Amino acid sequence: MSDYSRRKFLITAGVSAASSLLLKGCLGNPPSATVTAAPAATAAPGPVAAGDTPETNKVKLGYIPIVESAPLIIAQEKGFFAKYGMTEVEVAKQASWAAARDNVTIGSAGGGIDGGQWQMPMPHLLSEGIITDGRKIPMYVLATLNSQGNGIAVANLHQGKGLGLDLSGAADYIKGFSANQGRKFKAAFTFPNANQDFWIRYWFAAGGIDPDQDIELLTVPSAETLQGMRNGTMDAFSTGDPWPYRIVSDQIGFLGALTQEMWAFHPEEYLAIRADWVDANPKATKALLKALMEAQQWADKPENRDELVQITSGRNYFNIPPEVLTNPFKGNYTMGDGKADINSFDAGPLYWKDPKGSVSYPYKSHDLWFLTESLRWGFHKDKLTDIDTVKRIVDAVNREDLWREAATEAGFTADIPADTSRGVETFFDGIKFDPANPEAYLNSLQIKRV
Ligand code: CA
Repeated sequence: MSDYSRRKFLITAGVSAASSLLLKGCLGNPPSATVTAAPAATAAPGPVAAGDTPETNKVKLGYIPIVESAPLIIAQEKGFFAKYGMTEVEVAKQASWAAARDNVTIGSAGGGIDGGQWQMPMPHLLSEGIITDGRKIPMYVLATLNSQGNGIAVANLHQGKGLGLDLSGAADYIKGFSANQGRKFKAAFTFPNANQDFWIRYWFAAGGIDPDQDIELLTVPSAETLQGMRNGTMDAFSTGDPWPYRIVSDQIGFLGALTQEMWAFHPEEYLAIRADWVDANPKATKALLKALMEAQQWADKPENRDELVQITSGRNYFNIPPEVLTNPFKGNYTMGDGKADINSFDAGPLYWKDPKGSVSYPYKSHDLWFLTESLRWGFHKDKLTDIDTVKRIVDAVNREDLWREAATEAGFTADIPADTSRGVETFFDGIKFDPANPEAYLNSLQIKRV
């Protein structure tokens, strides 16, 4: 987006219309707004071989209205679910991550959901009963929905203080905030101990700021967070597109960092379904996966992104003005606070492939990073006790084998990774995570709880 067109957008839509829409969106979406079956199947029917007929054509999958859910919505709307015999898929909007957790605990038979979109490591925590009062809900991780597409927004109050990707120059300002302002620097996310919490903790800690001691970090609903950023009581927000874009275009704040800058092509959210459903319906599971894979391939074609915006922004799904999604889906980010804009398709959310490998394939090495990071911060430390324990949980929950089978049957063999590990991951501060030696990663970190 050029400066001129951006300014024009701010004038025509950003200041007035987007403000009211932003607030409207913040107030929450009705729970379980459901879209059933593919309305206009554009995919060719009939690839289901006789022996592959799914055990059921029904499943109920939850989603949150952020860019991570796009492949589920596209699989529904472009007819890919129906193409593989899954003609009665319900894609059900969830009011919050906590609502999704509660709904999968009930299951679709009880009026909840069978699975859907998750932050990590929610499927592992559900499986171990860690976020369900001890009740174990075994889950299988089946695919990665997307990479990137998240960021950390900072309130305008902090302009000019050096709150960029490398926070070290702003560390004294942030740590001294409490002495100068009478309260700690305050940052929020919408669900604890998962992606957005990890991203903002990594960012602070890399800049020499202890997220457990030097600042206040807490779970707050989006509406409350944004109001706080406006009135000067909330300082930062770790969140997913389109929120970072909306916060800047609505002049509430600027972007401290995109998660893509912190860890290029990092895994973001996942498809996971209850293990009892998958075990009872292995063919239907693979049918869902094949449809998801086609949707992800479709979504990654730049020429399809305008239609992707139209479909996902629609009343049945995100229910927001399409303009709000156009830039994030094209990888265009106005950073603000004097930072250069980022305009690169590869900087936005990706769904099928990226320069580091498969996006869709659920690498076990990525599950292991999310759980190693849980160890780092001492999350659920009565249950997540050590590396061997978390490896056991990954092996029980990650079903990359089903992804491989589905990809093979669908003919996507060229895009199947050779290994369950994506190999050594490198973060923006030079820290490396070698999945073969997670202890070395933990040892290399300065700020940690282990
Ligand atoms: Ca996210």
